[in-house]
Amino acid sequence: MNWVRAFRGRLGWKLFTSYLLIVVVGSVVLWSTAQMVAPTAFARHLSTMMQAMGQPPGMMAALAFAAGAAFLTAVLMSLFVTRRIVAPIQAMRRVSARIADGRYGERVPATSEDELGQLAVQFNRMAETLERTEQMRRDLIADVAHELRTPLASITGYIEAMLDGVIAPEPEALLRLHREAKRLQRLVADLQELSRVEAGQVPLHPRRVEVREVVEAAAARLRPQFDEKGIDLRIDAAPGLPPILADPDRIAQVLTNLLGNALQYTPPGGRVEVRLRPLNGAVGIAVSDTGLGIPPEHLPHVFDRFYRVDRSRARSSGGSGIGLTIVRHLVEAHGGSVRAESAGPGKGSTFIVTLPVAS
Ligand code: ADP
Repeated sequence: MNWVRAFRGRLGWKLFTSYLLIVVVGSVVLWSTAQMVAPTAFARHLSTMMQAMGQPPGMMAALAFAAGAAFLTAVLMSLFVTRRIVAPIQAMRRVSARIADGRYGERVPATSEDELGQLAVQFNRMAETLERTEQMRRDLIADVAHELRTPLASITGYIEAMLDGVIAPEPEALLRLHREAKRLQRLVADLQELSRVEAGQVPLHPRRVEVREVVEAAAARLRPQFDEKGIDLRIDAAPGLPPILADPDRIAQVLTNLLGNALQYTPPGGRVEVRLRPLNGAVGIAVSDTGLGIPPEHLPHVFDRFYRVDRSRARSSGGSGIGLTIVRHLVEAHGGSVRAESAGPGKGSTFIVTLPVAS
């Protein structure tokens, strides 16, 4: 039956009927109790009163009118209360349908402080998270498309020029092609790593680690490249550093990234220093270089995905702007923090990582 189905699907009707049921049951209980008690106590009093004063005029009519007014008030109150409960739920239903259609900016008004109001607040928080995630997804696709466009255009350009006979397929041209293809390969590898760390899919195997040992191992691996470029690499570790609780492979990855950047952005003849110091409850690792430095307006953004201070310079040197984003994720996954400092262009940069000590 249609009306049964309509009734089942309407919370408002259910609430209203339940209130009405309460009114009816209350009236029946009142009436039957009065019936049972009246013949004894009340009737005795009434008959004594009526014997003394005579029949009160319109007594039964007044009683009937009062009962009608009480019933009407109960119905109106039920309608009001039902509306107050159902209206916010209906609003949430409408808004969730719009969000499901992709309109992530929709919010519900939180009009009360009770459970329904709290539900509306949580609902809005969920909508905000969805909106942010959707924005990140769109930005990522736009960024990736942008990053792929340049090397791909370059590769196609070279190949077309070779096909047209404008450039001979000589080693130099092939080397350029190879460089662009390698850049794409690096970008794809970086993206894969980024998506894994952003999704928290990089498993951490933390144990008690002597930071000094990890730093020395990372420096030893990169030292040949520093020597080749003529950059002095030093480690200055304070004595008696407490061990940290960390995954040594991931911390090595962080250091390799920071040292790799220092190497890349410091001209020959410069110096790179790694200082290790105890900070209260943590160990600080500062990687300083005497290189290009970072202008103050760029400092807050260097950890953002695909952010490069000098886009053309970084691209020509193969930088994807993802390395520091991965660094930040890895450090934060260890409960630590990372920040960048620089006195400005040409004055070198310092990247400071803090990692909590093992308790
Ligand atoms: P990239 O692969 O481009 O180096 P990163 O995420 O590692 O990407 O770094 C982001 C940007 O931060 C770099 O493009 C560069 O402009 C700047 N940067 C990072 N490290 C240094 C540094 N040691 N000195 C100067 N600039 C740096």
